[in-house]
Amino acid sequence: MSARTATAVVTGASSGIGAATARRLAEAGYRVLLTARREDRVEALAAELTASGHEASAYALDVTDRAAVDAFAASLDGEVGVLVNNAGGALGADPVASADPADWRTMFEVNVLGVLNITQALLPALTASGDGTVVVLSSTAGLSTYEGGGGYVVAKHGAHVIAETLRLELCGDPVRVIEIAPGMVKTDEFATTRFRGDQEKAAKVYAGVAEPLTADDVAETIAWAVSRPAHVNIDLLVVRPRAQASNSKVHREL
Ligand code: NDP
Repeated sequence: MSARTATAVVTGASSGIGAATARRLAEAGYRVLLTARREDRVEALAAELTASGHEASAYALDVTDRAAVDAFAASLDGEVGVLVNNAGGALGADPVASADPADWRTMFEVNVLGVLNITQALLPALTASGDGTVVVLSSTAGLSTYEGGGGYVVAKHGAHVIAETLRLELCGDPVRVIEIAPGMVKTDEFATTRFRGDQEKAAKVYAGVAEPLTADDVAETIAWAVSRPAHVNIDLLVVRPRAQASNSKVHREL
């Protein structure tokens, strides 16, 4: 890894998969830049990683705020080798017939425009590094639908299409585009956020599933894909728990 490619930016690094990915990439030798809206969280994790001998810094960043994203990119002095587009999430599980358009807009903003904003802002540096990598954390919701998936499925299909299109458009440039599409991952906040703090509804998502994926399972997968030799592009990697055969076929022991 050269000095120009040794920096990895992770969005949404304040919890779940993003935090676990920042840890994994730090352990793999990257200087990690942790970003999220909750500054205290990313600062605490960066401090913890620094205390254990890794290089880590924290930035408060809302990926939907283009001006803030551009200012963040300008602060990096052009040195970025890896961008992990992890910031995202779901709001609600209402049918199309009754979903709140405001929820759909919020999900589109973060899962689609958030990816667009920071990818556009960092692409010149990723290209100049001579060996850049863009990771898009979509979802199996980005590949096929399910009842109640609504605006989340729409938004993650958008993230999937960004990855597919960008890979075509960058063919010939020294930048890989890797899409990781996880199925069910039990993280502390994803389902709670989706159901606006309703713990009962959030718990039902994972009810009876012996071993959903963990944040670290996905982080390990991301770190593996990123650490392949520069000429090897893992285009799309679907990762699910054994108990889940599709978005709607889940084995539950109830
Ligand atoms: P979390 O809710 O724990 O993480 C979401 C992260 O995104 C948080 O760190 C949050 O930080 C950040 N975030 C949200 N909005 C913004 C914003 N506008 N700007 C910057 N950061 C933002 O969930 P997970 O770790 O489970 O999910 C991480 C990613 O993986 C998401 O994209 C999710 O859609 C995807 N995914 C999750 C699956 C699951 O089953 N859990 C399955 C497949 C994909 P903060 O609030 O501090 O800004």
